[in-house]
Amino acid sequence: MSHLPVLLELQAIHDNLSTIQRDLTAFPPEMAKLDADLKVHSRKLEIMGKELTDAKTSQTSLSRELGLAQRLEDLARQALKQSTQKIQYTAAIRELDERERQKAAISKPLKDLEGRIQVLEKELSELTELKDKAQTEFDELHRIFLSEHENQIQARDSSLNRKHELEAKLEPIELGRFNRLIQGRHGRAVVAVENGTCTGCRTKLRGPFLAQLREKKTLNCESCQRILYVPTTS
Ligand SMILES: [Zn+2]
Repeated sequence: MSHLPVLLELQAIHDNLSTIQRDLTAFPPEMAKLDADLKVHSRKLEIMGKELTDAKTSQTSLSRELGLAQRLEDLARQALKQSTQKIQYTAAIRELDERERQKAAISKPLKDLEGRIQVLEKELSELTELKDKAQTEFDELHRIFLSEHENQIQARDSSLNRKHELEAKLEPIELGRFNRLIQGRHGRAVVAVENGTCTGCRTKLRGPFLAQLREKKTLNCESCQRILYVPTTS
C-alpha cells in the first residue's frame, strides 16, 4: 500500500522544521559572536584539558623514576662512605657520579613538567571563568531571543508532534528509508516529477518508468533514489 499522502506531509513537516530551525539559530550579531566564542573556548578547554591529563600521567611516571634514582643514589653514597681501599673508593665515586647524573636527567624534565602543569592549571581556570561568563551572557540573551520567537517555538512543537504521528503510520523499514533520504539528499526525500524529469536530481525519466509511476503513484528515482510522485495537475 502506498503511503504517499503520509510521506508528502512528512516531507512538508521536515521542510517546515528546517525553516524554523534556521530562524531559531539566526542569532543577532552579539549573540552570534558569543556563540562562536563559546565554541572556541570549548575547543581550547578540551585541548588543554587533554594536555593537562597527559602531563599529569607523565608526572606520575617521572616521579616514580625519580624515587628509584634517588634510592640508587643513596645506595651509591652509602657505598662511598663505607669504602676503605683507594680502588674501592674511586669506583664508588664514579658510581655516585653516574647515579647523580641519572637522577638529574629525570629531575630536570620533571621540574619543567611541573612548571607546565602549573601554567596549564592557571590557564584552564582563567579560560573556564571566561567561558562561564560568556555562557551566562549568552543564556540571558538567548532567553530573550526565544521569548521573541515564541511563535516559532510553538510551531516547532506542534510540527514535532505531527511528525511523530505521521512516523507512526509508516512501517519501520519505510521510515528508515525516508530518513536516510532526508539525511543523504539535502533534506529532500519526496520530490515531484515535472515534464518527465525528477525535480530532485534533474534526470529525465524513461518512458516505461513514467508509465509505471503513473500507475503505481510512487516509485524511487532510478538515479537519486528519491521518492517520486506525479502531482495531480501534471
Ligand atoms: Zn532523481
